[in-house]
Amino acid sequence: MKRRGGHSRVVRELSLARVVQGLEFAHTLVDNLNVLARRGTVSREHTSVERRESEAWREMESILEASLREQPRQLSDDGIRLFNKRAAECPGVLCLSDQDSFVEDDNGKRIAIQGVPGINFKDVGAYASYVLWRVLEARLLGRVKRCLECKRWFVDETRNKSAERCSRACTVKWWNRPHRRDARHAQYRDPARKRRQKGRTGQ
Ligand SMILES: [Zn+2]
Repeated sequence: MKRRGGHSRVVRELSLARVVQGLEFAHTLVDNLNVLARRGTVSREHTSVERRESEAWREMESILEASLREQPRQLSDDGIRLFNKRAAECPGVLCLSDQDSFVEDDNGKRIAIQGVPGINFKDVGAYASYVLWRVLEARLLGRVKRCLECKRWFVDETRNKSAERCSRACTVKWWNRPHRRDARHAQYRDPARKRRQKGRTGQ
């Protein structure tokens, strides 16, 4: 009995660690989508490596966008095909780090060790596929969302996965609109109209 109890505690800890790791990948995913996927394609300041990187993140973005239309959230057939095609083009190589890597020990203390398992990719864009794969593996796809207000990607960390906006600021912005969602969105994008409307409310 004692042993079984101990075993389930280990399982709980391990699955928690998996979720925490998955969340880290989910944050990496949204950060890169918000920055790299938006980087201009044809710009002289960007090297070919940077362009390749942006292209890869944009591809992941298009795969995710299709999944937003699915209920419950899942990748579209086209998205899955594209993902598998890219993954086959840029295979990863299992490796162990040959210099100090910093990891956390059981007490959360950072320690330097060698031989940390990882995967090397020759193609810089392949990392984008890998990050999405880790998010899917941790079953966190349903938590990767696009803010209805500012359109940025974010990780929904609410208990019931109910967040629709990325931040408090975006929620406040949404609430402060006079007619909220039933109003025509276009009118709020015109600053002149907005000022007129504010004037009316003040009367
Ligand atoms: Zn937002």
